[in-house]
Amino acid sequence: MSMRKGKALQEKEKQAQTEVQEETVPTESAAEERPQVSGNGAPAQETSDIDPKKIIVCEDLVKIYKTEESEVLALQGLELTVDRGELMAIIGNSGSGKSTFLNMIGGLDRPSAGRLFVDGRNLFKMTERELVEYKKSVVGFVWQNNARNLLPYLNAWQNVQMPMMFSNAVKDKKTRALELLELVGMGHKKNSRLNQLSGGEQQRVAIAIALANNPKLLLADEPTGSVDVHTGSYILDVFRELNRSLGLTIVIVTHDRQLSKKVNRVVAIRDGKTSTEFIVRQNLIENLDAVAEFEDPHDEYAVLDRAGRLQIPREMLDELGVEGNRVRLLLEEGRIVIEAPPKEEEAS
Ligand code: ADP
Ligand code: MG
Repeated sequence: MSMRKGKALQEKEKQAQTEVQEETVPTESAAEERPQVSGNGAPAQETSDIDPKKIIVCEDLVKIYKTEESEVLALQGLELTVDRGELMAIIGNSGSGKSTFLNMIGGLDRPSAGRLFVDGRNLFKMTERELVEYKKSVVGFVWQNNARNLLPYLNAWQNVQMPMMFSNAVKDKKTRALELLELVGMGHKKNSRLNQLSGGEQQRVAIAIALANNPKLLLADEPTGSVDVHTGSYILDVFRELNRSLGLTIVIVTHDRQLSKKVNRVVAIRDGKTSTEFIVRQNLIENLDAVAEFEDPHDEYAVLDRAGRLQIPREMLDELGVEGNRVRLLLEEGRIVIEAPPKEEEAS
């Protein structure tokens, strides 16, 4: 190993240590407060109850950020399940809780209440040590900010080998790293450093890095947020190809509705709660490549939580002229109709 790599390794180890320390200190006390019951008061079910086909099972997930002055309810009972092998997108306005959710799944932060299982593991019950192992081997992360993905003083090839240094799973790290670079179409730039690569190329290297330890789940937080539309579209194609060829489960957070057209399922989060799901039309499933041509290839569904609650988009309520917190519900010939309340009722 060269001197440079030796130093880089030390830095990474140092970084990994501080990461562990930073997380151990605040979460240890949080662990005591953490309720071991689900949001509806039922005892937390065991892992054995989880359908093995589901890689992510998230029920009534709550995350509260406490600061000196205030408490922020970043997730307010989020419900979402993801099948193994799925390629899906999460959309939502800024501040709706997308990153918070991804950080919970990635084991970077602890949820406050609810249930969260990833790959059959209960994220509420994991010890700090298990969490470190989980982050190393189960999930791969791609960030919007390349500085968070890549070490600038290493070339692309060395960057991809970096996460493998902490694992004994891969024998020939150099060969494996090159294979991964080729997989994302970056083999020819293996000797380039961060500043010699375009934003899109950096993002592709970042994907190769995230794949280094062969994760079961790839999480990407606004991976196309810093690149132009064309590059963003290409990066999404890389994700699709990885999903298709490796069967890898991929969850992408994006604010770009245009890009989200390229996946089978899009889940919209509003105010920390799943609000709407867009599922690709049945007749288009076999032909996702053509999907981008369509105005919108998805059918839209409102999401019911387990208590039967759903969110109605503000725009729809405004359109109806609903101002207070009441609406009328009528069951009519197989439909549920929502009406603005009559004026006099509002006054009472
Ligand atoms: P998004 O990724 O959808 O833009 P985030 O998940 O980053 O949204 O944030 C959701 C809410 O939680 C926001 O109101 C944000 O200000 C708050 N939040 C996120 N992280 C923290 C934190 N570490 N401390 C306090 N509040 C936070
Ligand atoms: Mg975010």
